[in-house]
Amino acid sequence: TVNASWVRAWLDKSATVIAENRTELIRLDREIGDGDHGENMDRGFQAAKAKVDDSTDEAVPANVLKLIASTLISTVGGAAGPLYGTAFLKASGAVAGKNELGPAEIVDLLTAARDGIVLRGKAELGDKTMIDAWTPAVDAASKAADAGATAGAVLEAAAQAAEDGAAATEPLVAHKGRASYLGERAVGHRDPGAQSTALILRVAADTAK
Ligand code: ADP
Ligand code: MG
Ligand code: MG
Repeated sequence: TVNASWVRAWLDKSATVIAENRTELIRLDREIGDGDHGENMDRGFQAAKAKVDDSTDEAVPANVLKLIASTLISTVGGAAGPLYGTAFLKASGAVAGKNELGPAEIVDLLTAARDGIVLRGKAELGDKTMIDAWTPAVDAASKAADAGATAGAVLEAAAQAAEDGAAATEPLVAHKGRASYLGERAVGHRDPGAQSTALILRVAADTAK
């Protein structure tokens, strides 16, 4: 079941996976940014995990998501901190009052997260940002839910689409973020934020299995 325990487990495993991929995310950000994405995300997710572990207010998904949001906003920094923070904050709002999340609520959560990032960062699909992982994930989740998929299958569809979306940033020129200063030199490198999004959504799906 996709409930508050799922959110907590999602965060827990995300913190582990981000830590394992810290060096890889730094390497990607060195190619087309300033090389700190792995450090920023690792710091933020470790802090969020610690906050949620210490929290007694854990019974409802929206509360856990909100605590993750505020911790990410105050600890990740850079461009990604406010973007991921807003994503989790909007995700929290989307599932307010829900204890168990079904396919439709998962779609609502992912859509709100993506819309929050767009509201904040104004990136469009193809700008070589984390949106290139989020938007295909939202579209695939929505399509799966419409076809009658379970919550777990909706998350799996989102994870696969995010992974494909992250890989598809490689040939792109960037139009937002630091990589946009590089012009053609960004071509051939994967966007670090799209990659971290794919990692986090992969964990979301695996946690629901
Ligand atoms: P910084 O660039 O400040 O060092 P990070 O390295 O932590 O921050 O994060 C970089 C990532 O943030 C990029 O790879 C990209 O995915 C994402 N990003 C940057 N600007 C935007 C934006 N305007 N909209 C969406 N995502 C963005
Ligand atoms: Mg950076
Ligand atoms: Mg930076």
